[in-house]
Amino acid sequence: MVIYNTLTKRKEQFKPEQSAVVKIYECGPTVYDFIHIGNARPLCVFDTLRRYLTYKGYDVVFVKNFTDVDDKIINRAQNENISCAVVTQRSINEYCKDAQGLKEEVTHRPKATENIAAMQKIIEKIIENGFAYERSGTIYFRSRKLKEYGNLSGMVLESLQAGARVPTEEQKEDDLDFALWKAAKPGEPSWNSPWGAGRPGWHIECTAMIDEIFGGTIDIHCGGQDLIFPHHENELAQYLAYCGKPLARFWMHNGFVTVDSEKMAKSRNNFITVRAVAEEFGYLPIRLLMLQAHYRTPINYNLDIIKQSAAAAQRIRNCWELLNGVKVGTNLTQNIEDLKTLKNKFLNELEDDFNTASAIGVLFDFMKQVNSNLANASQEYVEVATQFFSEFLYILGLEFDDVDFCADEEVRQLIKQREDARFMKDFKKADELREELKNLGILLEDTISGVKAKKVNGGKNFGQKN
Ligand SMILES: [Zn+2]
Repeated sequence: MVIYNTLTKRKEQFKPEQSAVVKIYECGPTVYDFIHIGNARPLCVFDTLRRYLTYKGYDVVFVKNFTDVDDKIINRAQNENISCAVVTQRSINEYCKDAQGLKEEVTHRPKATENIAAMQKIIEKIIENGFAYERSGTIYFRSRKLKEYGNLSGMVLESLQAGARVPTEEQKEDDLDFALWKAAKPGEPSWNSPWGAGRPGWHIECTAMIDEIFGGTIDIHCGGQDLIFPHHENELAQYLAYCGKPLARFWMHNGFVTVDSEKMAKSRNNFITVRAVAEEFGYLPIRLLMLQAHYRTPINYNLDIIKQSAAAAQRIRNCWELLNGVKVGTNLTQNIEDLKTLKNKFLNELEDDFNTASAIGVLFDFMKQVNSNLANASQEYVEVATQFFSEFLYILGLEFDDVDFCADEEVRQLIKQREDARFMKDFKKADELREELKNLGILLEDTISGVKAKKVNGGKNFGQKN
């Protein structure tokens, strides 16, 4: 498999350092609010990478953190007059619902606040190695001293002359320096440290958690393109200054998501949460949308594009259900080799810098062929097609275990009416609506994360494939 490495700026053959295990770390959300549609992109892209590497037979260790100490969290807590812990726990709960809907699975979800000691250990060593200094309880990293600084983002340090700009924080030696540790301010969460009470800077979190969990260089570090500078540049610099080792062998970054061609921002009023989109269209079309572009190209989100994805998800579902309910015919002339060719094409697209966009194109070619052959398909054809189809859906994370995502309009309306009836405590009407849905083959389950709808005679469950 070849992957574009942001560090070397070219496609490289990917092989994990240890033959059977792939170590991946993705920078997770800062937990102060619902995640927005831009956050869904790295989630869906890198979860698909995890699935694909698992499918290829690797043992994937995938770590994604929660940043649970940050200015945004502190501001939110102060505005609502509640503690930071309440803000972060609430946001983590909501994140987990969205992650479940979007089918993300990870090995560990460490919290920054549970790894403060590991961060302090690294900061102490960086100071000892001469790459950091203290100013009134705050520790700054001496960026310019590290000759590799700027390699990841491609920033040319010479163009940023020392002292050319007045440092934004006056106590810094150089404007490029950044805080590893911030001295405590009144009303903010803080921890004891060798430099007095304070809290960690954002970048040190990930470096420390990677070192703590993996114990050294990982195979793939990933996240959104907006993280390359300063976050990832600084993570990498800290690790070199700490132990002289690279933090990661491969750096993968997904492209931006704009909304109606503009950058998303609360001030622009175009801040779209995953939850709001999922409530209207379901989670599956979001996942499909995020994979329908090559991960390094930008995506422009708008109402048309999510509607198209919802329709495409419905077509995939229809074909899958047709295949599962098909009566086997007698046609022995159908060419199973064609299906194998399409499967190889699908996998080859993923081998080439993880091109999910083209792989989904192949999935639609595959469906076209299956749809046209099903009228009189042989037993073997149906079995092979079902096997391949389930493998594609597993890799892409498009598993139809409930109708939440792509139920037709009528079903969605009935589910909503039942929810409304329950809310109004009209249980008689709610029961009638449940019956009506049952007659349509839809079974409802009331769970803690809301109502789940399952197709009674739905397709098989997709297991993990190798
Ligand atoms: Zn990070």
